[in-house]
Amino acid sequence: MVDYGIKFWSNDDFIIENGVIKVNYGKKPALIDIVKDVREKGFKGPLLMRFPHLIEKQVNKLFDSFHHSMQTYKYKGNFHAVFPLKVNQMPHFVLPLMNSSVGKSYGLEAGSKSELIIAMAYTNKNAPITVNGFKDKEMIKLGFIAANIGHSITLTIEGLNELETIIQVAKEMGEPHPNIGLRIRLHSTGTGIWAKSGGINSKFGLTSTELLEAISLLEKSNLLHKFTMIHFHIGSQISDISPLKKAIREVGNIYAELRKMGAKNLTAVNIGGGLAVEYTQHEGNNNRNYTLSEFSGDVVFSLKEIAKNKKEKEPDIFIESGRFISANHAVLIAPVLELFSQEYDEKALKLKEKNPPLIAEMFDLYKTISEKNAIEYLHDSLDHMESLLTLFDLGYIDLQDRSNTEVLVHLIIKKVIKLLKHKNHNDIIRIQEQVQERYLLNCSFFQSLPDYWGLGQNFPVMPLDRLNKKPTRSASLWDITCDSDGEIAFDSSKPLYLHDVDVTKEEYFLAFFLVGAYQEVLGMRHNLFTHPTEFSVIIKEKGYEIDRLLEAQTILDVLDDLDYDTKEIERILKQKIEDSLLLDEDRKKEILGQLYIMLSENGYLRTIINGEKE
Ligand SMILES: *Cc1c(COP(=O)(O)O)cnc(C)c1O
Repeated sequence: MVDYGIKFWSNDDFIIENGVIKVNYGKKPALIDIVKDVREKGFKGPLLMRFPHLIEKQVNKLFDSFHHSMQTYKYKGNFHAVFPLKVNQMPHFVLPLMNSSVGKSYGLEAGSKSELIIAMAYTNKNAPITVNGFKDKEMIKLGFIAANIGHSITLTIEGLNELETIIQVAKEMGEPHPNIGLRIRLHSTGTGIWAKSGGINSKFGLTSTELLEAISLLEKSNLLHKFTMIHFHIGSQISDISPLKKAIREVGNIYAELRKMGAKNLTAVNIGGGLAVEYTQHEGNNNRNYTLSEFSGDVVFSLKEIAKNKKEKEPDIFIESGRFISANHAVLIAPVLELFSQEYDEKALKLKEKNPPLIAEMFDLYKTISEKNAIEYLHDSLDHMESLLTLFDLGYIDLQDRSNTEVLVHLIIKKVIKLLKHKNHNDIIRIQEQVQERYLLNCSFFQSLPDYWGLGQNFPVMPLDRLNKKPTRSASLWDITCDSDGEIAFDSSKPLYLHDVDVTKEEYFLAFFLVGAYQEVLGMRHNLFTHPTEFSVIIKEKGYEIDRLLEAQTILDVLDDLDYDTKEIERILKQKIEDSLLLDEDRKKEILGQLYIMLSENGYLRTIINGEKE
């Protein structure tokens, strides 16, 4: 059976059993049952499901792996971690994250004033806060305020001018001061599309010359004792472990050198983020060439070796993994609205009394096609289609003939796929690549999978049920934005096959996995489609509970966010209805009522399935 590569990407978070995909935890609820539950409550359209137990699972994995490596190598430094808020700032992620890490040295990393406010409000007691990115005086003051209310906060300096501002604020505000970190501009670079974060030409960090100057500035201002951490980040989704090892050696040596120069309170190395997530659904297409235990082992071992060789204390290790912690906790559910070729059923065929000979022949092919002649007949019909389309262009056949041609070709393709569905021969695979089914999804890729659009990043996708039936249609996926980039095209090197369903009679849902990192806040409101309706699934002993349900924004709220005067919009529309000469009084009332309902609903599609509203 087709398993959609679940063994590559799911880390046992989800399993396939009895033809459906289930949460691999507790009583193992099926995703399709959870979706039906929520839809019955009236929440239709796309749904974003969060699984808080998976957040906890990732935090534990990270800590267990580093603790294990530290034990293995008898490492004397401690392990700390922070979650970089830019990866997911949503409250229904951040609050469970902080809840599930109580008792661990696990805090938050902020890259802007707004993020720092979140970190100051929600970081657990005694857990660290780190601040990266460009900072003005106000943001630095905010860091001092955090220190004043008892947080263990480290401001990481990206450039010398920031350090000068810190020195100035320290004079103005006095003790207590936040700790100071210095971001190193590495000689070694990261890999992949995110490489701009590391390397000599990177946007961030101090060169060796600037480091020396920073130390002398700190010394002169009596602040050297607050310098506790050096930091680097070589970019997200590190696919190959070797640049990381190189970066660790570089940074480890800088750590030891700075200590020798008198930075005695420098006790921590912050290795940034970059721990990769495996998104692939296909063998041989892996996104990373290492495991978590190899990653933690390499970091711990390299830092231990350097400390030994340079006779310095083994540093505490800080990590800022974002993607690894958050990606797997969220799943996007998209209802399938339409299969493009569905309209080509026999009812659509309107043959005339007398048809052009090629059409008559095609109809004959359709009627007499069998398993034995299927491929040959298919080739013939594709050939006939080409000729018929040329005849149309030349004015020899009419629009009805052209429509019959389209319908016949699709009917023949469907019949061929059905006849040969149990065979795997090359011809049928090649044909499936040529004649894909287009699945229209009730969601926006721009809103919910922006990295697909921006970076060509793939997310594992599969149907929620029918997993004991062989999917027969090669699929391309279309979203409901009116933008032709809102398409996930069929790729024969990473093929996606889906089921042939009649969505006017039965429901069919696709799930996109690993969407919990970066996608939510990066998502854009192209065509004014908003963040989908979201909820958390709390796995309980007896089953599960739906919690923290937040409906997608209504049309009026969306317009309000764009700073439209929504009261004015309502007033104008009401006036236009009242002034209309086309309507009598009763119709006016009725239409006004319908309009008000629409304004108070979200903008995703509601289509008729079994006479029911989507
Ligand atoms: C973005 C970022 C991270 C997170 O990287 P991931 O690849 O998501 O783990 C960590 N640290 C810094 C400084 C960042 O800019």
